[in-house]
Amino acid sequence: MSRKVVLAIVDGLTPTMLEGSLGTPTAPWLTRLAEHGAYRRATSVFPSLTPVCLSSIATGAYPDVHEIPHLVWYHRGERRLVEYGSSFGAMRAAGARQAFRDTIVNMNAAHLGRRAVTAYEAVQDAGLVAASVNITCYRGRTPHTSRVPIVKGPVLGPQRFFFYSLFESDPTGAPTAWRNRAAGTIDDYAVGVGRWLVTRDGFDLLVYYLSDYDYASHALGPDAAHEALGRSDAALGALVEAAGGLDAFLERYALIVCADHGQTPVREVASLGERLAGEEGVLVTASNRAGQLYDLDGRRDAGALAALLDGEPSVGVALYREDGVAVARRETEELRFSRTRDGWELAGDGSILDQPNALERSWRALANPNAGEVLVSAAAGWEFADLGGRHHLGGGSHGSLDVGDSEVPVLTVGLDGEPHSITELAPLALGALGVSPPAYAPPLGRAA
Ligand SMILES: [Zn+2]
Repeated sequence: MSRKVVLAIVDGLTPTMLEGSLGTPTAPWLTRLAEHGAYRRATSVFPSLTPVCLSSIATGAYPDVHEIPHLVWYHRGERRLVEYGSSFGAMRAAGARQAFRDTIVNMNAAHLGRRAVTAYEAVQDAGLVAASVNITCYRGRTPHTSRVPIVKGPVLGPQRFFFYSLFESDPTGAPTAWRNRAAGTIDDYAVGVGRWLVTRDGFDLLVYYLSDYDYASHALGPDAAHEALGRSDAALGALVEAAGGLDAFLERYALIVCADHGQTPVREVASLGERLAGEEGVLVTASNRAGQLYDLDGRRDAGALAALLDGEPSVGVALYREDGVAVARRETEELRFSRTRDGWELAGDGSILDQPNALERSWRALANPNAGEVLVSAAAGWEFADLGGRHHLGGGSHGSLDVGDSEVPVLTVGLDGEPHSITELAPLALGALGVSPPAYAPPLGRAA
């Protein structure tokens, strides 16, 4: 008997935090689920920022295919900034109305790559029912109109589509999402919807996205948000209880619990925009622990652009492409790399890209048509202020290639396969449902 699948994502949950909480009163449900399943660490994508990572989880694609490059980027076709909500300050700086529409509507309707196939699209094409709760990558086949009149026009989502009280395919009685973010009302909303869906067994695939952990971890720093983890654990337990207990839940559903990215402590803040303010025709987009440089006039050599950052302490690695080869630059040292039929051809200092799966992740990020000419991975302990000057000094952040930002926990229950990358989670879920994964997905259990 094939089971239905629940894919639960706890935003920003680090492997060390999950591993340390197993067997403790903070995480009773995760502990019980882990006893029935398999646990491992997997690698995120680059930049390890939520819109990029959630798009990879939902599509099984790297950013070269799904085309979402960052939290903030320059739209070459429309000659304008796109800002997906780094902070309220950043949204105001980018134009609040436009940023709202980009985040709620355009990310899926316009920016998400046409070659990418979301798990919901694949499930719907197979004649099954897909459901999503709050995940920012939601593109499906069913038109939905917002309950809120300022969101104009229908969007395409899964049949069962729930998005922060803005889109709701069914009346579930869930409490409004935006009452008090810090107190966890976003996940309360997800729980209300999730309970309703499980009680009705109303899906074949449910993607259940819990965003509040990341919010707490940004404020408190990684591996400190125990109270928030307790709430995430309870939000998973709510699904189990709605099914009538663990045995009944696991009889009906296979489960994946994962994170989209990790977090590392922020000890210093830099403004890449200020650093390059005198450079004409260079646009910086930066937020959290990743940045991009765009050459607006197309007049600069990418290597020269990257060299502008030499000596900048906040920059860990600067990446760019040159004549079909990728270059990773740290200070004046370089690693040149390109893909060969069975691996990579390398020249230079290999230690520049010794982070997890870094060659693949860098290569794919650079191949994103919306990416800047230069991509920047922050140095350890550093964060880049966003458009509104906001940062998480003293707390946590993510976005870089570094292991702490990039490693995520993956717990699977009732599934075969050992995902090494978050790009393998959608194919794993689809395989369990008997649905063919998109052609670009690598064979399972073999991280590229
Ligand atoms: Zn975050």
